Amino acid sequence: MVKETAFYDLLGVSPSASEAEIKKGYRKAALKYHPDKNPSEEAAEKFKEISAAYETLSDSQKRDIYDQYGAEGLASGGPGGMGGMGADDIFSQFFGGGMFGGAGGAPRGPQKGADIKHSISATLEELYKGRTAKLALNKTILCKSCEGRGGKAGAVKKCTSCGGRGVKFVTRQMGPMLQRFQTTCDTCSGSGDIIDPKDRCTSCHGKKTQSERKILQVHIDPGMKNGQRIVFKGEGDQEPDIIPGDVIFVVDEKPHELFKRKGDDLIYEAEIDLLTALSGGDLHIKHVSGEYLKVTIIPGEIISPGQVKVIENKGMPIYKLGGYGNMFVKFTIKFPENNFTSEENLKKLESILPPRRKENVPKDAVVDDVILTEYNEHKHESRRRPNYAHDDDSDDEGAGPGVQCASQ
Ligand SMILES: [Zn+2]
Ligand SMILES: [Zn+2]
Repeated sequence: MVKETAFYDLLGVSPSASEAEIKKGYRKAALKYHPDKNPSEEAAEKFKEISAAYETLSDSQKRDIYDQYGAEGLASGGPGGMGGMGADDIFSQFFGGGMFGGAGGAPRGPQKGADIKHSISATLEELYKGRTAKLALNKTILCKSCEGRGGKAGAVKKCTSCGGRGVKFVTRQMGPMLQRFQTTCDTCSGSGDIIDPKDRCTSCHGKKTQSERKILQVHIDPGMKNGQRIVFKGEGDQEPDIIPGDVIFVVDEKPHELFKRKGDDLIYEAEIDLLTALSGGDLHIKHVSGEYLKVTIIPGEIISPGQVKVIENKGMPIYKLGGYGNMFVKFTIKFPENNFTSEENLKKLESILPPRRKENVPKDAVVDDVILTEYNEHKHESRRRPNYAHDDDSDDEGAGPGVQCASQ
């Protein structure tokens, strides 16, 4: 009996499904909802869920935890936990590279060097129009003169002192105890091989690698989002006998002064004056495209505080798919200052604006005449705390004695 079946349902299999059936289920579901084939937001979400389900159910240890405790059990720190791999990684690992022109699968077999991550900051304007950044990096490459051997062909021998491992164990007397230490092999200086000095590469001095400055052109495409990765496959450091890792640029979207971004949509807070809110007028919005948008509020249309309107297709470009998101305009209204006009004019307003709302106070109610004063944070907030217990926030968090006590 399993605790929940949601992951099985996503792959369209039963909780008793075999490994092969789970694979088959994933294949079918992933192809159906892959973002390149089905470019809707729901499909993208579904694709992620399917990948997470497959990541769990294809791992017998994780599957056991899921069967026993459900998704919660995985999230609360079962071995490995959830989300070790991205949905795209799982997909390309499963189908191999080249599917829908996607990124290639992670190579199996020879050891892969570490990926090098850099963040690349971009303004909303840059993410709207796209830009190309030229970035210089220093990377380690195999020595060009000796092709990474360290010396002439055939001149490089395995170090006999450490057996090619580059490290040795030494035993030392520490007081009454003998201790074993691991140290770098002094015969080969940790390289694991020996090169006759006369055959040693003069360019890298036997190190096999050299440093190179490389310029990468990083294309930030219109519509890219915060956290999106731009991958240069195999551009990481080169070392003998490993596959170089990738250089990965992660888009870091800078906060914008005027706009907030939500997916492909932009959110703009517009402050208009009361006159415009009541009797119309123009409003100009400086858009991230560089142009100004002119919005006309037609006389007769009333804008209320907090009201949200939409300007369609003036959001961000939609990455790779074309088209644009929307712009949401949230209105705040600037009211006039105290005494902005004469009493006579205010009387006129009474004849213009809709009449005052009728209030229903019961006839026999006790009515107390009170006064509205200006709000003052210092004066009006400090009384809530008794003044004998204000040493630290952490002390009176809970229902400590006296916290709720209204000291009169
Ligand atoms: Zn060399
Ligand atoms: Zn050695």
